[in-house]
Amino acid sequence: SRQINLASRPSGWPTPDDFDLVEVDLPAIQEGQVLVRNRFMSVDPYMRGRMNDVESYVPPFRLGEPLEGGAVGEVVESRAPGLEAGDLVLHGFGWREQVVTEAARVRRVDPIEGVSPSAYLGVLGMPGLTAYVGLLDIASFKEGDAVFVSGAAGAVGALVGQIARLKGASRVVGSAGSDAKVARLRELGFDAAFNYRNGTVAERLREAAPDGIDVYFDNVGADHLEAAIERLNNGGRIAMCGSISAYNATEPPCAPRNLFLAVGKRLTMRGFIVGDHSSRMRDMIAEVGGWLREGRITADETVVDGLENAPAAFIGLLRGENTGKMIVRL
Ligand code: NDP
Repeated sequence: SRQINLASRPSGWPTPDDFDLVEVDLPAIQEGQVLVRNRFMSVDPYMRGRMNDVESYVPPFRLGEPLEGGAVGEVVESRAPGLEAGDLVLHGFGWREQVVTEAARVRRVDPIEGVSPSAYLGVLGMPGLTAYVGLLDIASFKEGDAVFVSGAAGAVGALVGQIARLKGASRVVGSAGSDAKVARLRELGFDAAFNYRNGTVAERLREAAPDGIDVYFDNVGADHLEAAIERLNNGGRIAMCGSISAYNATEPPCAPRNLFLAVGKRLTMRGFIVGDHSSRMRDMIAEVGGWLREGRITADETVVDGLENAPAAFIGLLRGENTGKMIVRL
């Protein structure tokens, strides 16, 4: 079975040389274990942090060992009660074609008619929960709020905007890195969207949100965060979700320079890690899954084929080559 190991730790942008595609023998399956063949695996921005040898909320990947991450696979053989060949399971052993593991480390998921199983890596999985919890619980979104989300054409961002719209936002504004993505955001129901590469974020956001914003969902940090602080109304809230503009930087960013405005505007800024909020998964799947079935929410995916192309998919994600969730199909 093939897998991708971490060959070296990047400084700055990762390159294909940081990854090694290797062939390994799988261990024999023991009592209580399952053999799973992966069908889809996820590449996510947080994996960039795990390539560094630093202490964080999740331990670093180890050199010479396979990377890890969300994957959906099919049980090929089971020696565990409650799981049988053909079952679809979600687990954390991505970046490899097959895995032998304890049954307790996989979760059976139901196939949904008309929906790809990869949805469990996106809209009905970790990114979906991030959008849901970040907007509703962390930013305390309420009907009538004007919302700005950065990274808006990505997995999390596109859902934040659509959930805000479905929950009665007065205005939904998104930013993304290309004109095609901006056009897509308008199709998804965003009231305004802009390409952050055209002029400054501050100028574009002033035009897109002339009456200010009440919530900023931050996926990007730096000048996006600075522009949002400028536009936030009194009592505004920021969900600090990610700061992707800095993940490959070797120096910390200069912005935001206007953080002092938080005092007079009585702003709340709150960071969160989705893993602490798994108790909300049921609510998210019920509500967002319902919208998905009714066709009221759209979950775009960019699908790359082949395990050997997973490093390129990951680097492409950091460069913005995805619209919606970046998925690798095995
Ligand atoms: P996305 O699908 O949004 O993919 C990443 C996107 O980031 C790219 O498509 C690219 O789009 C954008 N991007 C890359 N570099 C920059 C830059 N310098 N400035 C602005 N945008 C940039 O990924 P996810 O939806 O999975 O993740 C979105 C954010 O949410 C990330 O910051 C991630 O770390 C965070 N996150 C946080 C979690 C938590 O628990 N707190 C959980 C999950 C995700 P473009 O073309 O628009 O530049």
